[in-house]
Amino acid sequence: MIRIVTLSEFPPDVIDFVTRRLHAAYGMGCELEGEGEIPADALDDEQSAYDAVKVVDEMDDDVTLYADDKIVYLTNEPLTAPPGPMGRGPVDGYAQYGGGKALVTAHGLSDKGLPLEVGLAKRAAHYVGHLWDLHHCFDTRCAMHPGWSPGFAAYPEVALCLFDREKSERKIKLGSS
Ligand SMILES: [Zn+2]
Ligand SMILES: [Zn+2]
Repeated sequence: MIRIVTLSEFPPDVIDFVTRRLHAAYGMGCELEGEGEIPADALDDEQSAYDAVKVVDEMDDDVTLYADDKIVYLTNEPLTAPPGPMGRGPVDGYAQYGGGKALVTAHGLSDKGLPLEVGLAKRAAHYVGHLWDLHHCFDTRCAMHPGWSPGFAAYPEVALCLFDREKSERKIKLGSS
């Protein structure tokens, strides 16, 4: 089951759209688990953004997680990532590769020219993919195509390419056995 936890307020139809798209992309149940609060100490004053890794690490899971459960936290807040090879900077989300928790923000979507629910669903599908070890994909129509690429906004469909679809299906089967 993919469980959605909102850390900001979203219109119910937006959450509904994201839930249905995640279900369709991964062929797995997806539901709104509830609301949470973004950890205040994850705010990076210098960057005026929340440290995405810290937020994911510090969210306590009062959610009962089964082995194959994934949690996606949704926020409106700007996110930043710790320094890496690409430098420190704004990110649209973060996922524990091969792990259980991902965080996605709607921040900056208005600049992408996609409706909020579409952009958020694409980002959510992308970071959920990382939870199943999916890597970035060259196919611009695939949800695993990176969000910073111009191709991201070119295709409003929330879909995986055949390769990523099959890989996620294998991972989901392994996780539930
Ligand atoms: Zn990515
Ligand atoms: Zn792909």
